[in-house]
Amino acid sequence: DDTILDVSGLSLDFRTGRGRIRALRDVSFPVRRGRILGIVGESGSGKSTVLWSILGLLARNAEVTSGRIAFQGRDLLGLDDEALRAIRGEKISVVFQDPMTSQIPVLPYARQFSDILYRRSMSRAEKRDAAVELLRRVGIPDPEDRIDAYPHQFSGGMRQRAAIAMSMLTGPNLLLADEPTTALDVTMEAQMIDLMRDLRAAFDTTIVVVSHNLGLIAEMCDDVVVMYAGEVVETGEVRDIFHNARHPYTRALLECDPARVERTGGRLPVIPGDIPDLSASLTGCIFAARCPRAMPICRTETPPDVARGTGHARCHLLEGPGADPDWPPPAGV
Ligand code: ATP
Ligand code: SF4
Ligand code: MG
Repeated sequence: DDTILDVSGLSLDFRTGRGRIRALRDVSFPVRRGRILGIVGESGSGKSTVLWSILGLLARNAEVTSGRIAFQGRDLLGLDDEALRAIRGEKISVVFQDPMTSQIPVLPYARQFSDILYRRSMSRAEKRDAAVELLRRVGIPDPEDRIDAYPHQFSGGMRQRAAIAMSMLTGPNLLLADEPTTALDVTMEAQMIDLMRDLRAAFDTTIVVVSHNLGLIAEMCDDVVVMYAGEVVETGEVRDIFHNARHPYTRALLECDPARVERTGGRLPVIPGDIPDLSASLTGCIFAARCPRAMPICRTETPPDVARGTGHARCHLLEGPGADPDWPPPAGV
């Protein structure tokens, strides 16, 4: 079986002063070993919540109401804190948008790297060598000296490189990256993508990357999960989705004016309307209020999750009484 991580039927609420927010609704997707999977969706669609669920680092007011997250066959949701910490320290690692959230300003990199290896029986010199080697790999010049620097002595791009080096130090099986390039300029972003692809090849690490940036997903990823308002509306291989999107939301993302994508630096286009109120109980399709193809059935019945091409899409147009044999139209129409 080539599935390293399998999220299935995951539903999650946040308890707030104004009631419950259903942040994830029956989220399912497999992550295949050695591949790069991108999660894309508007702000508030639940992308980070999915990553935090995998890491076992959810906010206190979060409550998983159903589902499983199987990592190498074990359900992460059933593990205690100690077991999760061990997995996070060795097998699953994470890179954030802002490297300062994972780097300690008052400690030189040498110390931060060796702390990551606290579980290993290695000498100080061995740990230092391992860290220097990784800094070199991610393109930090003079790593033998730079390893003694503090984070503020690095530029933003170098800090992100250092963050990626830290996240790879234990040779994790799975790397989770939450908008790792959003804070960077376009050139640096491209370098970072190359870097993560290289590391994937060198360490055989599977990567899950969250992004607003469709261009980045197209360039970097093998597979994509499209989220909308806490639901996975479509999944599939990137080359399939980019040519044959089957969900109206995915199509709306892809068929926008290319000049506009250019202007927003490849970031998600703005689709008219708002994400539905996540606190209200929802009937019908979650995208109905904004969907140009919405039909009466879309407001009353939950759409079926239909297997198509290399993945799935949730839409009445694909199956059942609302099915349209001419849907989806060829790309670009
Ligand atoms: P962005 O692109 O802005 O990072 P996202 O897709 O990562 O968005 P999440 O951060 O996962 O979205 O949030 C999903 C929903 O859950 C949002 O409506 C958000 O406001 C809500 N939410 C997230 N964390 C909490 C929390 N601790 N308490 C209450 N609501 C929360
Ligand atoms: Fe649009 Fe209906 Fe499909 Fe939802 S189920 S995406 S409203 S056509
Ligand atoms: Mg987020």
